[in-house]
Amino acid sequence: MTLEVAILIAEAVIVYFLVLGAHALRHRFGLAHYYALIGGLTAIMSWVTDAGVTVPVGGVTFVVGSTVFYTSLLLSVFVVYVFDGPRATRVAISTIIGVSIMVPLIAVVLNVQMSLSGAPALGYVPAPSLRINAASVFATFMDLIFLAIAWEYMNNRFQRVPLGVRAFFTLLGVMWLDVLLFAAGAFLGSESYLAIMEGTAVSRLIVSCFAAPILWGYLAWQNKRWHTEMAQRPVLAILKEFAEIKKELSLAQQEIERRKKAEQALNESQEQLRALSVTDELTKLANRRYFWEMGQKEFQRSRRYGSHFSLVLMDLDNFKEVNDTYGHVAGDQVLRRVAEIGLSRIRAVDVLARVGGEEFALLLPETSLHMAQLAAERIREGIASEVMAVEKGQVRLTASLGVAAISPEAKQLDDLYVRADQALYEAKNNGRNQVRLSGS
Ligand code: GH3
Ligand code: MG
Ligand code: MG
Repeated sequence: MTLEVAILIAEAVIVYFLVLGAHALRHRFGLAHYYALIGGLTAIMSWVTDAGVTVPVGGVTFVVGSTVFYTSLLLSVFVVYVFDGPRATRVAISTIIGVSIMVPLIAVVLNVQMSLSGAPALGYVPAPSLRINAASVFATFMDLIFLAIAWEYMNNRFQRVPLGVRAFFTLLGVMWLDVLLFAAGAFLGSESYLAIMEGTAVSRLIVSCFAAPILWGYLAWQNKRWHTEMAQRPVLAILKEFAEIKKELSLAQQEIERRKKAEQALNESQEQLRALSVTDELTKLANRRYFWEMGQKEFQRSRRYGSHFSLVLMDLDNFKEVNDTYGHVAGDQVLRRVAEIGLSRIRAVDVLARVGGEEFALLLPETSLHMAQLAAERIREGIASEVMAVEKGQVRLTASLGVAAISPEAKQLDDLYVRADQALYEAKNNGRNQVRLSGS
């Protein structure tokens, strides 16, 4: 064995162990240093390849760039993919591709700079060939993607095949794919194309035999050390991952939309139920229940703050006659019309409710007895002055109203109600079609 060959082997072993050793430290330092290392190795690979450094062994020529550095990069992506998943693999691949593009660009700039300054071109900065470098970047990218896919395929299909054998064939597959892609891209058309293909195919086989056991040893060691089961990812996991994340996102969004709509519908139906439960069906005024709910609330509020509060009760006069003369349907029409007249003569904060057959109640917050009397008069006047058109003719109608205002003796709404009802009774007794005030 010549010194040259010994150096090549030593170089390969050192670089492989450097990569795997750096990866082994990921649990302590994370992966950043690892990405930096493979970026550096990529730069060196680029220079050594452009410089055309080779070592002949027997009849086979070993290109140092691919034997040492390219192979170490394959190992680096391999172990990242196995232990750290598709995300870390993408970073590693991007690092390698990025540096592969950057290094020849820098070399071009340096060479141009040197030729401009008249200095002799440095042998250390080999002038890159556009074709070779483009072929290299493309081939590397395809190789690394293929590496991930091939490994998953091997893992899923040939689980019973020993780990070392799977590692070997995956490595060899990538290496040979690289020969095909890179040699075709870089040298197709040149005379030596076939010879180069054959030479590199053989040399890659030998390198794979050499590197695979090291890789296998590392995989087995790491598996044992961290008790990690190597993830059983589906073939093309690297691509599927994107699709799955996207799908999950859109499913989550749909679920959110669905819940929002359901909640909205529930709220709406609850509101509708609530509205139904407090509305008088015939007149659409507030019903008796709402009148008592709101009335008690408003009454207590006014008592606490010492503000005005008045209540008006109204009963239509001789309403029985309307029914008897024109029928029940006409009577209902009149009740609806009375509701309209009442509503049109009160403020938005006042509550007009139908509390009985043809009996109405009016809550007047912040309203004195005098102001309540005016409101009651407006309504009485409105009803008395209208000739209501009904089914079988026209109806003239009057109403009697009793008004009561809050006073210190009134402890609850019932007290006010009784007084307003007394006033209403007086209005009836006094000849109807009038407003009577409680206590006057
Ligand atoms: P008064 O002046 O004394 O109040 O005489 P009135 O005839 O109005 O007597 P009262 O208030 O006792 O009569 C209520 C009548 O109202 C009895 C019923 O025929 C009628 N009535 C009650 N509810 C309804 C209803 O929902 N629709 C119709 N059309 N009539 C109703
Ligand atoms: Mg009545
Ligand atoms: Mg009546």
